[in-house]
Amino acid sequence: MAVYNSAWPRTFIFVEKATGCGMPEAKEVTSFEELRKFRLADEGYFVITDSNRDAIIHKVNAKCIKADSFNLKVTLNEGKQGGWFWVDSIATAAHEFRAKRCKVCKPELNLVQPSTFEG
Ligand SMILES: [Zn+2]
Repeated sequence: MAVYNSAWPRTFIFVEKATGCGMPEAKEVTSFEELRKFRLADEGYFVITDSNRDAIIHKVNAKCIKADSFNLKVTLNEGKQGGWFWVDSIATAAHEFRAKRCKVCKPELNLVQPSTFEG
């Protein structure tokens, strides 16, 4: 019988669904290349999930998130104890991951989407 962490598959199912229905948006970050692209784009937030702790929301360019941590969690542990996700907003992170805001990089609560100003 397979033994697995119950939080992980549930998160994964959400990501699968979200890609088909537009917003809200969350994407699993599975490689350093993706991580780099998200940081260059400088939009949205990272949610780092952990099977032993609450998920945490960080700014994409926060200094408190480390490449070593990504390497350990995503590459070496293959996501078994949690993973990294990119989300479009704090609302998405809070709703879908029940994530808490990082006390170090302090992502803003009230993010106004750029599209609000269009038209
Ligand atoms: Zn942080």
